[in-house]
Amino acid sequence: MSDLLERLRGRGWRMTAQRRVVAEVLDGDHVHLTADEVHSRAVAKLPEISRATVYNTLGEMVSLGEVIEVATDKRAKRYDPNAHRPHQHLVCAQCGQIRDVHPSGNPLTDLPDSERFGFTISDVEVTYRGLCPSCATA
Ligand SMILES: [Zn+2]
Ligand SMILES: [Zn+2]
Repeated sequence: MSDLLERLRGRGWRMTAQRRVVAEVLDGDHVHLTADEVHSRAVAKLPEISRATVYNTLGEMVSLGEVIEVATDKRAKRYDPNAHRPHQHLVCAQCGQIRDVHPSGNPLTDLPDSERFGFTISDVEVTYRGLCPSCATA
């Protein structure tokens, strides 16, 4: 369970109605929404919320480190509230659902020295792709 609202409150983030709605839309497990998806879900709860407010709020959550941006495909960036537990993504090539996954190894340290070209590596993003069970049987 992601507790985005609680985490943001704990950071002393000033909670307006707009910010709260964006945080509520993003709360939960395996949540990876584009800014447009966040906006349309936010509008359902708070009709007057503007696209600009949603974009700005998402940007602030990312700056605070409470939401991460993920790029699992060539389409829009997605916003992920699971910011504190390092994880990778498993994507269904058919329906596009995304799951948070935790490989048994550590992709950051698994790269051999001979493949590092002297780089100091600080981050890694792995995307596993395939078919989810319902797409595989369809
Ligand atoms: Zn699928
Ligand atoms: Zn994720």
